[in-house]
Amino acid sequence: MDHFELRGGVMHAEDVPLPDIAEAVGTPVYVYSRATLTRHARVFREALAPLGTPHIAFAVKSNPNLAVLRVLAKEGYGADVVSGGELDRALAAGMKPEDIVFSGVGKTHAELVHGLESGIGQFNVESEEEGYELAAIAERLGKTADCALRINPDVDARTHAKISTGKRENKFGVPIDRAAEIYARLGAENGLHMRGVAVHIGSQLGELEPMEEAFGKVGALVRELRDAGCSVTHVDLGGGLGVPYKADDAFPSPVEYGAMVARATKGWDVQLTFEPGRVIAGNAGVLLTRVVRTKRSGNGPPFVIVDAAMNDLARPAMYGAWHDFDAVSPSGDRMTAHIVGPICETGDTFAMDRECDALSSGDLAVFRTAGAYGATMASSYNSRGFVAEVLVDGDRFAVVADRIAPSAIMDAERVPEWLD
Ligand SMILES: *Cc1c(COP(=O)(O)O)cnc(C)c1O
Repeated sequence: MDHFELRGGVMHAEDVPLPDIAEAVGTPVYVYSRATLTRHARVFREALAPLGTPHIAFAVKSNPNLAVLRVLAKEGYGADVVSGGELDRALAAGMKPEDIVFSGVGKTHAELVHGLESGIGQFNVESEEEGYELAAIAERLGKTADCALRINPDVDARTHAKISTGKRENKFGVPIDRAAEIYARLGAENGLHMRGVAVHIGSQLGELEPMEEAFGKVGALVRELRDAGCSVTHVDLGGGLGVPYKADDAFPSPVEYGAMVARATKGWDVQLTFEPGRVIAGNAGVLLTRVVRTKRSGNGPPFVIVDAAMNDLARPAMYGAWHDFDAVSPSGDRMTAHIVGPICETGDTFAMDRECDALSSGDLAVFRTAGAYGATMASSYNSRGFVAEVLVDGDRFAVVADRIAPSAIMDAERVPEWLD
C-alpha cells in the first residue's frame, strides 16, 4: 500500500498534487511519501513482533537520502551500510553507531578504521582475509570489533542474476562448508569478538522458500558452531524481500515472511537482525517525469519520449525491470507505446509495447515503485545532471536533494595547462 493516488483526477503524493511539485522543482524529480515509508517501517516491524525485538537495519544502499534515513531513524531503525560514504550518511541522519551494521566484500583499510573509530555495532565480515585485517586494525586502535561472519549458503534465490548473492559462484561471504573453521580461527584473534553469522541471498525475492532453505543452513551452522564450543549470540538474516512492481503481482507479505522466519529460527536463542531495503522504500517513491514529445516511426506503436532517462532510473536498462507508468492527470483514454528517455543509447528504454494512459507532449507521468534503487543509482551519463528528490509529508513537501546541474559537474573538471 502506498500514498500515491488519484484525487479529483490528479495524482497526489499524500495531500500534495504532483503538478505542484513539478511546477516548483521541475522534472524529472523523485517524490517520496513519508507516510508510506513510516507505514512500511511499522508493518515490517510488526510482522517480526513474534520474534521478540529484532534489530532492524535499513539497507542504506536502497535509498541513502538523508531525509529518508531520518524518517527511518525516528522509527527506531538502524542501518546496514556497505561503504564509508553510507556510514557517514547513517550517522548524519541520526542513527546510533551501535545500530549500524557494516556489510560488503571490499571494505577498504580506511573504511575498517572508520567503522571502528565510529563505534559501529557490527562488522559483517565477508572473508577470512578481511577478518585478519580488521583484527590487526582493532588491536592497533585498542578496540574490539563485534563481528558476524557472512556465510554464502549456496542457494538459488530465484531472482535476477545481477542481484543474486547467495550462490557459491557469487562473491559474497565465506562458503558455508568452511564457515565453522574460519569462525573458530577468527574467534581466536584478539581484536575480534565473533558473535554470530550473517546471510543475505539476494534482492527482489518473490518466494520465501530459498530464504527458508538458507536460514535452515544457518541454523545447522549455529548448532555446529556451538557444538564446537563457539559462542553464537547474534544472527543477521539480511534483507531481500521483494515488492510488486506491477499493480496486480502477488508477493509474500511481511507477515508471511515473519511467520517463515519464526518457523526457521525456532530455538536459536539469538538476537536477530534484519536488513530490509526495497520492501521499506520501493513503493514509497515515484519518479515524476514530463513527456517531451511523442514520435511515430514506421507502423509500430509511437514512442513516448519522457524527460527522465536511464541515468535517473537505471533499473529498466540494467535489469530489464518493469515500472508501472501512469499519467498524473489521466484522460481515461489508453494507448500502446514505447516509453523511452532522451539518452543516445537504445538501452534508454523504460518499456516497449506498453499499454498505458494516453499521453502527449507536456503531460506529466510517473514511474511507480521508484523509491528503492532509483535516485541512488543515478549517473550523469550524456552530461545530464543529477535528479532532484522531494519528500512529502501530508500537505507539505520539501526538496531533500537539490538537482545538480550539468554545469556543476563540469565545474569539478579541469583541463591541464599543458594541453593549452
Ligand atoms: C542490498 C542488501 C540488502 C537489502 O536488500 P533488499 O532487497 O533491498 O532488501 C541487505 N543486506 C545486504 C548485505 C545487501 O547487500
